[in-house]
Amino acid sequence: MKYTSRKKWILGSFIGLAAVIIAVVLFFRYEVDHILGGNTEVVDASQFKTLSGPLAITNTSILSTDSESMQVNQTVLIKDKKIESIGRDISIPDNYHVIDGTGQYLIPGLVDSHVHIKKSKNDLLLFVANGITHIGEMTGMKEHFQWSEEIKGGSLGPDIYIASPKITSLKGMRPTFRSWFEKRHQNYTTPLDGREAVRKYNSLGYDAIKISSDLSAEIYFAITDEAKKIGIPVIGHLPVGLGMEDLYKSGQSQLAHITSITQSIMYDFGGISSKNYKDFLDYLERNSDSIAIKLKEKNIVISSTVWLHGTIHKQGYNLPDFLKTINLEYMNPGWVEGSIVSRGWLPGNNSYEDPSNIDPESKRLSEVYWQNYVEAEHIMTRALLHNGVTITAGTDANGACGVIPGFSLHDELESLSEVGLSNAQILHTATLAPAKWMGSNAGKIEVGYKADLVLLKKNPLENIKNTRTINAVITNGKLLDRAVLDKILQSIKEANNKSRKINIDAFTN
Ligand SMILES: [Zn+2]
Repeated sequence: MKYTSRKKWILGSFIGLAAVIIAVVLFFRYEVDHILGGNTEVVDASQFKTLSGPLAITNTSILSTDSESMQVNQTVLIKDKKIESIGRDISIPDNYHVIDGTGQYLIPGLVDSHVHIKKSKNDLLLFVANGITHIGEMTGMKEHFQWSEEIKGGSLGPDIYIASPKITSLKGMRPTFRSWFEKRHQNYTTPLDGREAVRKYNSLGYDAIKISSDLSAEIYFAITDEAKKIGIPVIGHLPVGLGMEDLYKSGQSQLAHITSITQSIMYDFGGISSKNYKDFLDYLERNSDSIAIKLKEKNIVISSTVWLHGTIHKQGYNLPDFLKTINLEYMNPGWVEGSIVSRGWLPGNNSYEDPSNIDPESKRLSEVYWQNYVEAEHIMTRALLHNGVTITAGTDANGACGVIPGFSLHDELESLSEVGLSNAQILHTATLAPAKWMGSNAGKIEVGYKADLVLLKKNPLENIKNTRTINAVITNGKLLDRAVLDKILQSIKEANNKSRKINIDAFTN
């Protein structure tokens, strides 16, 4: 009798413990899904009326293939998702739908080379509504392959270049725990495991191996070596503690941020403090050209993400005002709100917000730090440009606070203008340069190229802000006019509002 009740007690305890473990796992899974945007109502993209079939855009100005000028009074014929012919006096077959492009400007579809779409399918629509027809997903997950296939099969969305999950080599249980719940981050602790990961992601069809800054030198070189053997590019950050010489010899072919370079140079310089910023900037000025020459020689492509760093001090000390300058209502509410597993964007849980913001001295020092950080980034950007290094416009949309998919690329282009790039150079960084890097047959208006196009009301060569004046987008053989683009944006706003736990009215205009 006694024995049986003990058995029952043990069994009961096991069941109780299992129930607690299941509840904890489900709770974390829900919270992770929430911050990744997976709990937001998904907008049904099939409701949007698009026009497919052969198309003629008549009497419009088109961006020349070197991005330097507009060729006026051109007609562009589009068939089977490709540019069929371009000219002044071409005859238009009867079955072509005609769009009068008079007074408008046709540019290639824009490319954001650094985004994170996570579990938020609505973001695909946000990109298209902002004229972005191709994205570089920097922490891929298996869902992204499915979405990419759906888009190729006719669903609405940009083309997607999919990098592997982000590879780290951190110690302790936390990264392993994170890998279980968030598949887009994977931790490997030995060089052999790192090599195995490269082979696995290559065989799964990822376009590149994405590495993080939290990677040991030993595993970094094992990964780059294995990737070289297989022929898959390694992209992302330069691991903390490694210098530019390590990068040159590694075979890594892309850096995810211009600041990956300046941070490494800061490290070589011996660190920076509030007293030696000026010396650091002088050091950088002296060395930036030789670094850029070497990057060019090694054919290393750099994604920009310049706008983000210019906002960090504002987010730290004047967050409510900053939030009013972005289109917060379109941002996936899960990411904006954050959760127990990760911070969000709002006051009280924004990762850039400084808890010491009541102290004027901290505020002043932060301002000096970020001004110089951004200045260093600008010095390096200009050196890259002068030495012909390929820069691709990238935003880190969804990857960092304040960076909204779609809208942020236009912010990035304006920042590149402030750095000193000409409007033609900027358009190149957001069209042909990233398209080439991703191996896509898009990025310029030429016969045979993919007909990913944006029709603008105003000329972006006169003012880069004019990339925002979108009248129509053509992507994957579909034409979306302004009315449809507005409907998409409205639907996303409504879906977000239905899925919110926190009201954001105080932070929007
Ligand atoms: Zn990123």
